[in-house]
Parts: sequence; C-alpha cells; structure tokens
Amino acid sequence: MRKRIPAVFLDWAGTVVDHGSVAPVKAIEDIFAAAGLPVSRPLIRKYMGLAKRDHIRNLLQDSAVTAAWPSHPAPTLAALESLTDHLYAQFQPRMMERLLGYAQVIPGAVEVTAALRARGIRIAGTTGYTRPMLDQLQILAAAQGYTTDRSLTPEAVGAGRPHPYMCFQLAIDLRIYPLAHCVKIGDTPSDIEEGLNAGMWTIGLTRSGNSIGLTESEWQALDPATQSTLLSTADHELRQAGAHFTAETIAHILPLISQIEHHITTGHSSST
Ligand SMILES: [Mg+2]
Repeated sequence: MRKRIPAVFLDWAGTVVDHGSVAPVKAIEDIFAAAGLPVSRPLIRKYMGLAKRDHIRNLLQDSAVTAAWPSHPAPTLAALESLTDHLYAQFQPRMMERLLGYAQVIPGAVEVTAALRARGIRIAGTTGYTRPMLDQLQILAAAQGYTTDRSLTPEAVGAGRPHPYMCFQLAIDLRIYPLAHCVKIGDTPSDIEEGLNAGMWTIGLTRSGNSIGLTESEWQALDPATQSTLLSTADHELRQAGAHFTAETIAHILPLISQIEHHITTGHSSST
C-alpha cells in the first residue's frame, strides 16, 4: 500500500469560499420568512452541511419551528414533505442569487491547493449544494484561481452528508486509494462525519466556518478575547464530531498535512 496522501477532499462553503458560510443562511432565512415561519440564524446553522433539501426538512421538524406550523401541534408526514418541497422550490432560485454575493475565495485556498498539488495530492470537492448551485460557484471560484480536480453534489450519488458516498464516487472517478490515507477538510460536524464514515483523516476548520458564521471583515472587527472564545467553541464542536485535527482556515492546514503524512508513513491509522 502506498504510504502517502493520494487526495484531500475539501468542502466548499466555509472551507474554500464564503468565509462564515453566509450565503445559505441568508437564502434559508429569506424563504422561511416568506412562508411565515421565522427561523433564527443559530437554528439554521445547526443543520449546515447537509444536502439542502435535508437541511430544510430538518428545520421544519425542529421543535422551535413546528410550534409555528399552521397545523400545530402535529404536522402529518405528507404535510411535512409537501411543505419541504414547496420551500425547496423557493430556495433554489433564492440561493442562486445569494451565491453571487458570497463567492469570494477564502485567503490561502489557492496557494494551499497549489502546494498540495505540487506534492502530488489530488483535490476533490464535496458539498451540500445542488449541482446548479455548485456549477455557478465553480465558475465564480475559478475566476479567482480556485479549482478542484472534480467536485460532486449529493444528487450524483443519491445522498449527502453524513453519508460518505460522494467521497466514494470521487475516489472511483479520480482513481484514488486508499481512502484511509486521504484527508477530509470541512467546517461542519457533518463534514467530519462524512470523512470518518469514508474512513479518512479529518481536519475541521474553525474561523472560516459555520460555527462562528462571520465574514472575513466581521471577524477582523472583533477584539482578540471574543475571537478566542468563538474559536474554542468552534474547535470543541468539531472535535466532538470526531475531528482528528482542527485549524483556523484552509491557509493553516499544511503543517497538519505533513503531520498526517508522518502518521501514515509510521503506520498509524485514521481509525485509532
Ligand atoms: Mg461548509
């Protein structure tokens, strides 16, 4: 078995673009408000990383939202599916609009992926976005210099996170093995679960991600004590999900890649 890292699997929003993963929060907030079901930003962020239809469905089933349902207290399963379909149909065009405003590549993503490629490591991408959303995002990111060798969305494999099927399909498409030598990097617990379910090493990103949920400029405006508190909360959330390592942003991962490579060459496994 080759003792090196064949590929890194990167999430998109909150990892390589859209510092704070703001676009989906705004789009979901918009459609729920229009339906008369206000949801808080922390509640929206609770389900981030899942495929977007699953994200909306989980919100509709959350007790904080079911209380506001027209059919309170007990929506039927058929009503739940019907409202999920209705909101998901609204979500897609709204998200396409919101993407345009939050597609900036996170500092370091271009340089770090170039450094990984120079070490012979392939770049794969997974997301909770749909294919049309990702297609648009890939065009906007490529114009800023960021590309993956291949990225997949949940509908390509019939299920999103925490299932590992996007990773499995990418491994087949890119001729990558073993997955136990690959690294999944993302900003949500569901990213970490996806990586662990695929048998990979995992790195959770704190500062640029969903837990903190701030744009680069909002983050820079905070005092150091607040930044430190937010970082430790995000760190805890990702480690609770099982992350092997955490880093502030994609710009900070290269030392961890070297560390993982060292673990692999000395026979340590991601599952121990
Ligand atoms: Mg993300």
